[in-house]
Amino acid sequence: MDDKILNTIKNKLAEEKSHLENELATFAKKDSKIDDNYQTDFPDFGTKDDENAAEVATYSDRLSLEHTLEKQLRDVNKALASITKGNYGICKHCGNSIEEKRLEIRPTSSSCVSCKKKLKGED
Ligand SMILES: [Zn+2]
Repeated sequence: MDDKILNTIKNKLAEEKSHLENELATFAKKDSKIDDNYQTDFPDFGTKDDENAAEVATYSDRLSLEHTLEKQLRDVNKALASITKGNYGICKHCGNSIEEKRLEIRPTSSSCVSCKKKLKGED
């Protein structure tokens, strides 16, 4: 792959990484023991019944957001690690190079278009 394209992708991924980490930091704490793992804060709105109910609802919203963002963060870190290792852009299923256009649009892609079509829904 062209170094210039690879650099652009690397910058994109680094940007995405800090964006995800900042977003997670607004409602969760980083786990010091496990990489890319966050603990969602339990909100404190008060002690009344409706406040307690709102806390539980907010907490469950935060949890699902936490899991979505964590998954994206892991994908970004995986892509960054493979750039470092020098095997970025290789399809994990067939071992062929992933189309550059696809990587430019979605830098965390780990499978090529034809494998992706075969394994619909999986990434
Ligand atoms: Zn493939």
